[in-house]
Amino acid sequence: MSKVLILEDEEDIREFIVINLKRVGYEVLQASSGEEALEIISKKEDINIAVLDVMLPGIDGFEVCKKIRQTNQTLGVIMLTAKTQEMDKINGLTMGADDYVVKPFSPAELVARIDSLNRRVSLLHEGNKDEWISGPFKLDNTARSLFKNDKEIEITEIEYLILKLFIENESKALSREHILDEVWGVNYFGDGKIVDVNIRRIRQKIEDEPSDPKFIKTVWGYGYRWRRGN
Ligand code: CA
Repeated sequence: MSKVLILEDEEDIREFIVINLKRVGYEVLQASSGEEALEIISKKEDINIAVLDVMLPGIDGFEVCKKIRQTNQTLGVIMLTAKTQEMDKINGLTMGADDYVVKPFSPAELVARIDSLNRRVSLLHEGNKDEWISGPFKLDNTARSLFKNDKEIEITEIEYLILKLFIENESKALSREHILDEVWGVNYFGDGKIVDVNIRRIRQKIEDEPSDPKFIKTVWGYGYRWRRGN
């Protein structure tokens, strides 16, 4: 499970972010001051992403970012900036932040940015381990294996390729033809039914209730869409 540290002095905003990240499967640590955030980061080495608010009562978010980068290059850092702080963005990125999100933001936007950075960051971690996280799932692209809540689920090569395509295109509707071309190749002569058969089997393996799927949604008359669930 990926760990995210949230540094934000305003309790309401912090709580709001924490709830939304937990809902999509992140483990969350919290800090209300820059000093506290640095303390946590110095003790815990397995944090993947730090979300740093810029405006803080003590040392500000930029200073925290600068201090982190003096010792840590692999932690993903996202700055939370106010709309009026256009300069802040540039500042933050030159201080070594990887991305920034402008306040006010929607939970979906912040989660999308954290996911995207998390994917990039996890490539740097632990000797180029290529792992993608989506909700309770972890797809290991080196071993071509799937885990749900850290428990391995046996999958075939075709199932792996379908899941990879889905997770790569989270929330996007994919047509049967597109899935067929991407997974089986454009020279495959079968029809879309083979896609349905495989989706049914994957659902049996990954869904709590295959008849009422949470993760692989049917897009009627078109194809399927991956949802990380909540
Ligand atoms: Ca603040």
